[in-house]
Amino acid sequence: MDWRAIDRCLLLASLVFLAPACFGSAIWVTNILAPEYLNQTLVPYMLWMYGIHILVLIGLVVEAFHRRNHADDWPFFENFIIGSYIVVILISGYLTGSHFTEGLLLIFLGVNITCTLADVNKIRFCYWLVVPVLAVMGITDFMPNVPYAILLEKSPIQPDGQPVLGWLIVRALIVLVLSFLIYICILAMKRWTERESLYQEMSTIDGLTRLSNRNFFINRGEEEIERAQRQHAHPMSPLACIMIDLDHFKRINDKWGHHAGDEVLVAASKIMMDNARRNDEVGRYGGEEFAVLLPSTNIKTAARIAERLRQKISETKVDVDGHSIEVTASFGVACYPSEGVNSMSDLLKTADKALYDAKETGRNKVVLACGRNKE
Ligand code: GH3
Ligand code: MG
Ligand code: MG
Repeated sequence: MDWRAIDRCLLLASLVFLAPACFGSAIWVTNILAPEYLNQTLVPYMLWMYGIHILVLIGLVVEAFHRRNHADDWPFFENFIIGSYIVVILISGYLTGSHFTEGLLLIFLGVNITCTLADVNKIRFCYWLVVPVLAVMGITDFMPNVPYAILLEKSPIQPDGQPVLGWLIVRALIVLVLSFLIYICILAMKRWTERESLYQEMSTIDGLTRLSNRNFFINRGEEEIERAQRQHAHPMSPLACIMIDLDHFKRINDKWGHHAGDEVLVAASKIMMDNARRNDEVGRYGGEEFAVLLPSTNIKTAARIAERLRQKISETKVDVDGHSIEVTASFGVACYPSEGVNSMSDLLKTADKALYDAKETGRNKVVLACGRNKE
C-alpha cells in the first residue's frame, strides 16, 4: 500500500497469475492421467484460454517493469489484471459447476486482495458486474435445459461412493493455493489496519506533545455541546474550557534554543495530562497554547483545576542540557452555557479573551470569563 500503483499492480499480477497457472495445470494433468473425466471438446479451448492469459500477463509484467522506471501508474495493466481474473474465474466456475463454491471464494479473495492493491472504485464497479452474472449462473443451475458443469464428463465420485484419487489431489492443491491467498489477504489487511491507525493518529494527535490536536479538540468540544443540548437537563450540564498560554515562551527559545523550548512544551503537556480526569480533553491549541475541555464541570471547579495547573507548572523545573528551565503560564477559564456563550466557538473565544486579560494583568495567573479573577 505504500508502494507506487505500478508496483502494487506487479504484485497483483503475480497473484492473479496463480489462477490460470493452477486451473490450467489441473486440467492439463487430468487430461493426461484421466482424460475420460473431461469433456474433450472443451479442454483445448480451456487450455488455450489459460495459456493466452498467462502469456499476456507475462508480457504485461515485462512491459510494466520497463514502464516503472518512468511512470508511477499504468491503468490499462490494472484493468486487465482485474478484468481477466474475473473472466477466468467466472468461466472456470461455470464450466466446473463450482461458481458457488471455490469460484465464489476466489472472487471474494480477489476482492479482498485487490482492494488493498488496486483502485477500490474499480473493484466496486466489478462487484456490481460480477454479482448479477453469478446470480444468472445460479438461476441456470436450476434450469434442466441448460447444461451444468459441462467440462466434467464423469462424476469424480465413483459408484461405490469413493472419490477418484486425482480429484482429491486437485482439491488438495486448490486448498493449498487458497490458504496461500488467504494468508496474503491477512497480511494486506494487517498492513491496511496499521496504516489506518497511523493516519487516525496523525490526524488527531499532536506529534510533539502527544496531546489532541486543535481540530480534534474543537470537534470534541462541539460534540460535548451537542450532547449537553440533547439531554435537555435543567440546569444544563455545564462544559468548562481552560485556555493556557506559556508566558514569555519566546525568551526560552531565544535563551536556551528551540530544542529546549520543545522540552518545556512536552513537560507542560505532561503536567496537564497527569492532572486531567479520564473524560477531560487536553489539546495543543497552537504553538505554546493549550486548552483543556472539562465536561460536567462548572466555572468554579474549572477555576480550581486551572489554579492547580498554574501552581504545578510554575513549580516545575525542566532540565535540558544540564540547565534548569522554569516556566509559568497564564490561564483563561470560560463555561458553557453562560452569557454570550452558545457554541464551541463562543466558548473558545470567551476563554481566549479571559486568557488575554490574564496576560494583560501580569501573567502567571488564572482569569475567569465572568470577570472574577482568581490569583
Ligand atoms: P506571551 O507571554 O505574551 O505569550 O509571550 P510568548 O513569548 O510566549 O508569546 P509569543 O507569541 O511572542 O511567542 C511564542 C513563541 O512560541 C514563538 C514561537 O517560536 C514559539 N513556538 C511555537 N511553537 C513552537 C514549538 O513547537 N516549539 C518551540 N520550541 N517553540 C515554539
Ligand atoms: Mg506565550
Ligand atoms: Mg501564544
